[in-house]
Amino acid sequence: MKRVGVIGGGQLAWMMADAANKLGVELVVQTPSQDDPAVSIAQETVFAPVDDAIATEILAKKCDIITFENEFVDLQALSLLANQQVCFRPSLTALAPLLDKYHQRCYLKDLGLPVPDFFALDQDLDRVESKIASLGFPVVLKSRRHGYDGQGTFIIADKETWQQKLNLIHNQTANQSLYLIEEFVPFTQELAIIAARSVDGEIVNYPVVETQQQQQVCRRVIAPAAITTQQGAKIAAIAHTLLHNLQAVGIFGIELFLTIDGQVLVNEIAPRTHNSGHFSLDACQTSQFEQHLRAVCGLPLGDPSMKADAAVMVNLLGYENSQIDYKNKLQQLTAIPQTHVHWYGKTELRPGRKLGHVTVLLEHQHRDTAIAIAQNIESIWYPS
Ligand code: ADP
Repeated sequence: MKRVGVIGGGQLAWMMADAANKLGVELVVQTPSQDDPAVSIAQETVFAPVDDAIATEILAKKCDIITFENEFVDLQALSLLANQQVCFRPSLTALAPLLDKYHQRCYLKDLGLPVPDFFALDQDLDRVESKIASLGFPVVLKSRRHGYDGQGTFIIADKETWQQKLNLIHNQTANQSLYLIEEFVPFTQELAIIAARSVDGEIVNYPVVETQQQQQVCRRVIAPAAITTQQGAKIAAIAHTLLHNLQAVGIFGIELFLTIDGQVLVNEIAPRTHNSGHFSLDACQTSQFEQHLRAVCGLPLGDPSMKADAAVMVNLLGYENSQIDYKNKLQQLTAIPQTHVHWYGKTELRPGRKLGHVTVLLEHQHRDTAIAIAQNIESIWYPS
């Protein structure tokens, strides 16, 4: 039996539980709080923040392999452990180009993969102003590290907003180099692909999905996406190039934009299981969570194909209301045919926080039907 250490104990680690049981794997989790979702399913927990490398040294003594459900780690400190033969999967070398969004964009560009135009915000404001002028407003300002669910992503509509934002950055950090700026992509759809690479270098892709965000937070995922065969092939090739060059092991989530003229641009890479792959728990032969454990444990990869013709996944985000109200609504959602409700058991129910998700299996691939079902779920879930 293998013991897998997971850095991070949120819902992504929690959703590995069934697969771990199936594969005879024990999970040991490093996470700060007793209340974190994966504490309830872990064999053992090391209570510490994910960037505490001393805690990871303790974690390493309790397991055979260490993997990540959260990439906000201290790579430099971890590299000392890697030198002491601790087995990280994916490796720290595979994570290194991805943890800073500016470095990630540079890495993708160097691989010849299509990305939005971008540059690093630095102290040379004349250069910055002229670059912004050449991109034209709106532009997108992003924190280079620790952004998630749109935290740290700001769409800057005009010069005035830019000046205000720049002043704010000055006042807050005095360190502008923590940000990057990129062109605003007027996409027609946002897409994502989940891909896995095994220790032996085998790569499998899940079907490309459409993701729909509101205020930069993922609300819905439609699987598969309504795209052309050529676009699907292009995205599969991007996933292959990326995972091969990283020599990645495990699941990687790749978010993309589809532009008005039908081109794809890579937005972001997550070196772990990803929200856009949650549909796979109920809709695919092998879930992304099982696939990740298979990959990191050195097992052959499973079949990523779908069991249903299509599926729609809706995130249940927190809103200000009582827990009793949530329970009542979860019962209503469970009554929808072909529905699978996943509730992460979080005790702190902040507005906007991902509290659970619902996946509905569909008999036909029909985008409008999927959207109508998602709207129904949202009308039950969110207060009107
Ligand atoms: P996070 O890491 O917080 O998820 P992302 O970079 O994925 O941040 O951005 C969150 C969302 O913001 C995206 O899903 C997209 O809707 C929007 N967004 C990000 N970058 C751009 C861009 N360059 N052009 C247009 N929209 C963008």
